[in-house]
Amino acid sequence: MNYLRKELYQLIKTDESIFDFIQESSLDGLWYWDLENMEEEWMNPKFWTTLGYDPAEMPHKAAAWQDIIHPEDLELAKENVGKHLANPNYPYDQVVRYQHKQGHTVWIRCRGLAVRDKLGKPVRMLGAHTDITAEKRKEQLLTETNRVARVGAWEVDFVNNTMFWSDVTKEIHEVPLDYQPNLETGINFYKEGKSREIITHCVNEAMENGTPWDVELQIVTAKQKEIWVRAIGDADFQNGVCRRIYGVFQDINEKKLASQQLRQSEELFRQTFDHAVIGMTLVDKNGKWIQVNDSFCQLVGYTRKELLNKMGFQDLSHPSNVKESTKELMELARGERDVYIKEKRYIHKNGHDIWLVIGVSRVLNAEGKILHYVAQYSDITKRKKAELKLKKEQTFLQTLIDNLPVNVYVKDLASRKILANKKELAYMGVSDISAVLGKAETDFYPAGTAIISREEDLHVFNTGQAIIDKETTNIRKDGSISWFLTSKIPLKDDAGKIDSLLGISYNISKFKEAEEKLRKLSILEAKSKEMEQFAYIASHDLREPLTTIKGYLALLKEEFLEQMPKDAQDILQFTIERTNRMDKLIHGLLDYSRLSQVKELASIDCNEIMQEVLADLSASIQQNAVQFELPSLPTLQAHPLELKQLFQNIISNAIKFRRPNILPKISIQCKPIPKGWQFQISDNGIGIEQSQKDRIFYIFQRLHREEYEGTGIGLANCKKIVELHNGEIWVESKLGEGSTFHFTINTEEKQNN
Ligand code: ADP
Repeated sequence: MNYLRKELYQLIKTDESIFDFIQESSLDGLWYWDLENMEEEWMNPKFWTTLGYDPAEMPHKAAAWQDIIHPEDLELAKENVGKHLANPNYPYDQVVRYQHKQGHTVWIRCRGLAVRDKLGKPVRMLGAHTDITAEKRKEQLLTETNRVARVGAWEVDFVNNTMFWSDVTKEIHEVPLDYQPNLETGINFYKEGKSREIITHCVNEAMENGTPWDVELQIVTAKQKEIWVRAIGDADFQNGVCRRIYGVFQDINEKKLASQQLRQSEELFRQTFDHAVIGMTLVDKNGKWIQVNDSFCQLVGYTRKELLNKMGFQDLSHPSNVKESTKELMELARGERDVYIKEKRYIHKNGHDIWLVIGVSRVLNAEGKILHYVAQYSDITKRKKAELKLKKEQTFLQTLIDNLPVNVYVKDLASRKILANKKELAYMGVSDISAVLGKAETDFYPAGTAIISREEDLHVFNTGQAIIDKETTNIRKDGSISWFLTSKIPLKDDAGKIDSLLGISYNISKFKEAEEKLRKLSILEAKSKEMEQFAYIASHDLREPLTTIKGYLALLKEEFLEQMPKDAQDILQFTIERTNRMDKLIHGLLDYSRLSQVKELASIDCNEIMQEVLADLSASIQQNAVQFELPSLPTLQAHPLELKQLFQNIISNAIKFRRPNILPKISIQCKPIPKGWQFQISDNGIGIEQSQKDRIFYIFQRLHREEYEGTGIGLANCKKIVELHNGEIWVESKLGEGSTFHFTINTEEKQNN
């Protein structure tokens, strides 16, 4: 057994105070130290187990604990042991930190008592440990909590005349931790004026009447910062005398500022609401107005009083959108959306429509429940009206371009059509613009046409110059050709850059064809005029020698026929026939060339003339068994001989150009027209090819030279006669079915002479 243990044991047996000491101390460790040989120290097993060590492994040496005690605390312990040894009245009682074997801190309250010899010299020291780690942790936690909550404690002790501020209290005042306050300096931290007056009053009330206080005031910290604090205080009395006042002190600046900000933002909202130039309302869950501002009242024409008297959006919405608005409010209520913005039609008190853009959002309370809705309204009636007008104008424009007799389109920079009118779409063979969008020219036209068109477009895009009324030829994929007068005008975007072109193409194919026809006709006309001239001269000059030839031929036949051999007789006969035919031709020509000469007008009964013609043609009519349909004809002002010739030529042609094996039928009709009469003579003959219909009215134009005899002068004569009567002549015919000749006789205008 260790000698010290033995000795302690003896001591406990003999000295009662030692025993009591051990009794009183709740022990988490016991030690007994040899002050004459300071390396030696006995520690009981609990001493070590409290600190996590195995007592069997630990030596009974002072160095053993000095190794694991916190170095700062070791210094303090040495100092205090020294003081206690020097003065028995100085108690050794201090808290020290040990490091547990597992690393954490163990807080130990260590108390010690020196054992002195008869002379009073300390020779041993007995010590006891109490583990106060748990309390220490709680204390730390409280301090920490207070620090976080910015709650500090304070106390004024009137008995000892001291004032205590906890660390947090000092932090709130922004003073150093060793700062020593007193009641006066403490009160002077409160902001001069209201705050300082209130706290002074509270402290006095508490000290005199024991009234506790709990107030929110402003202090000015040591660093001259103004902050809000909550000061709570109470007083302690003994025998009617106030011994101390104490309380807590909390920094509530942030909370206070936040609530000030809230009040400010509420104020700001109210100001905004009242003075907003747009309409604003607060709406309850049923769509009724809780608050409305002036702008809204003006917008809808109702007074605030009227609106707040159970009116809601349902009362002012146009009937067409009440249902939709109710649905939207429900969606907001269910939280399916936070806000909606829509264009709505409302009805003004005066009855007219107003268009509004309405934005509605929810206002939630702290629990996330809907308090009400905020709605904002801005008047877009003007814009809406402008839009409607624009739409109308667009419709007008579209209708206009769709009904123009020209093709209209817009092409983008890649020559793709982005707009086209009906006529253009029809030309392209589509019914809707969607069939054209995004497509290139090559999708619709053969390469040649597409390339030329693209080159024109590029010219417009690159030079910025319009192409005006350019004659273009367009070939479609089916080979059909069209002619256009095309204009391409550059279009610019807002920045003035060319971004497309407007195309206007006038289809002039009809005119082109008419022009071509006219061109051919005028050639014929010119030829015909030449012929006429020639015919007159020729016929006139040929008549005399022909008459001489005819005379000699007659003489030859009369005087020498019988003396001639047979061959010569035949030749003579043949020559006479040809000469007669030549004579006819020359007469015909002469008649033709004389037709334009001045003639007298006379009143003519066409029935009589027609009878003369039929009589003249009777042999041929009988021979061909021609059937006639002949109505009663008018009496009119005309040139008698020419009119007869006109009828005769057409009727004789109708018989001549009959179809073999089909009995000829000739139908004659006549009807009055504004300036005279229109005649119509139809046959069921061989018909005339479409392309030859104009030709036949010119001199010497014969379609059937081989099969039919003729001079090619008849219809040219007819044309001349009709023109002599200021009329027109034309034919309608179907090859193989028959022809109808039409002509008009103008009896009103002063006729040509
Ligand atoms: P022709 O002396 O050849 O009859 P016309 O001037 O009277 O000369 O007629 C010109 C040509 O017009 C004729 O050669 C014939 O080819 C055609 N023609 C005229 N009338 C008819 C008809 N009724 N039916 C068919 N062809 C006709």
